[in-house]
Amino acid sequence: MKGRYFVLYIAVLIVLTAFFSPLSEARERKEVSVGITLADRKRVAIYLQDCNGIINDNTGKAVESSEGLHVFTWHEEGIKVTGPEADIGVFRGPLTILEGDNFHRVSGAVEGELYRGILRIDKDEKQLYLINILDLEEYLYGVLPREMPPSWGSAGGMEALKAQAVVARTYAVSMSGRHEKYDLCDTVHCQVYGGVGKVLEKREHENTNRAVEATRGQILTFNGKPIEAFYHATNGGYTESPQNVWNPKASYPYLVSKEDPFDDPTNPLRIRDFIVHNRARWQKHLTASTLERLLQGAGFNVGRLSALEVVSRYPSKRVKELLVKGTEGQLSLFREQTRTTFALDSQMYYIQEGDSQKVWLLGRQAVPVATDGLDESKVVTASGIKTLKGKSFFALSASSLERVPQKYFLFTGWGWGHGVGMSQNGAYNRSRCGHCYEEILDFYFSGAELTDDYGR
Ligand SMILES: [Zn+2]
Repeated sequence: MKGRYFVLYIAVLIVLTAFFSPLSEARERKEVSVGITLADRKRVAIYLQDCNGIINDNTGKAVESSEGLHVFTWHEEGIKVTGPEADIGVFRGPLTILEGDNFHRVSGAVEGELYRGILRIDKDEKQLYLINILDLEEYLYGVLPREMPPSWGSAGGMEALKAQAVVARTYAVSMSGRHEKYDLCDTVHCQVYGGVGKVLEKREHENTNRAVEATRGQILTFNGKPIEAFYHATNGGYTESPQNVWNPKASYPYLVSKEDPFDDPTNPLRIRDFIVHNRARWQKHLTASTLERLLQGAGFNVGRLSALEVVSRYPSKRVKELLVKGTEGQLSLFREQTRTTFALDSQMYYIQEGDSQKVWLLGRQAVPVATDGLDESKVVTASGIKTLKGKSFFALSASSLERVPQKYFLFTGWGWGHGVGMSQNGAYNRSRCGHCYEEILDFYFSGAELTDDYGR
């Protein structure tokens, strides 16, 4: 019976750990349970290898299984299990698939995803749940490559990967327990996790796995609690404090706004081979009508947009208050709203106004015209004025052509993301300049303490 062996194994492990810990300095293990997103919430297929066994957690007994593809389907009375050849039965569950010598091969969201650790299948009145229970360090193997390019580790960025590993571990520990049936989900809601990858396309990478191992158990704490370990792609040369982005009351002593020359695209320190993030500088050209649509989408209405005025900025030059003026009134956007409302890359920008040339008015005679590349342009058609979108054909008349100006706003900005906490690009430059991960974390989270054993 595989179940009994498993219980025995655990018992032996507990005895051995208790006995040898003081000598071997065995680090504490911490398990995490992760909810895996299923494409079909009522069905999941898992390939059982002969070393795996299924335990019915409700009875503690093993479910008869053999090597091959097993399909688990939601059933009113439990979980229906179908083996490679025949139906095995309906079990109240939850069902646990034990860890074998190989990775679990799951066909749930994407075909053939591999997972480490234990898989648990649970259900409620609506759907099935696939829960991956594994060592927190192994979980991080599947998180890190999604957050920072593993290739950085081969180009002077190993210390940046280690810093990211500590940040991801801290985040996982502080977010733990957000869901009813598991600790964390596998999406951006908690932290993106993708398991080992696919059979022919592994997502785990040697560099990111090494970064996790080198920082095993380490998290950042403040007053004994895991910190809010925020990070972003690039900050334009100045980090931001959370109260200037989200909430004036969201103050954290270890998250302060300060200059970051290692992520300033002008490279003030004149560092050789300095990396400027490809989105460190950006421009966005938006017509008045597009901005009006975005404002409406966010629930604001000022009529026809007439002006945008930056009223105030923070010391970082990020916009604090943006005044929006229109024919039917005006309103102020504050902090993060000044970026999210218009889907801008960051809150650090300047605005120039101008008149668009891309507007045509045409007279009589009908001529069909392809309108590629003329998005947002206005044309007079047989059935009135139309706004062009994508590739479309209109019956235009070409006898009189006239340009009619349309107001546009050009946003020129720096940085990508909120700018709070660690800049990944800044961490990369620091790593390439010889800073160790402890120094990198100390700059971005100054005052926070780097502690071992998950802060316990
Ligand atoms: Zn979540």
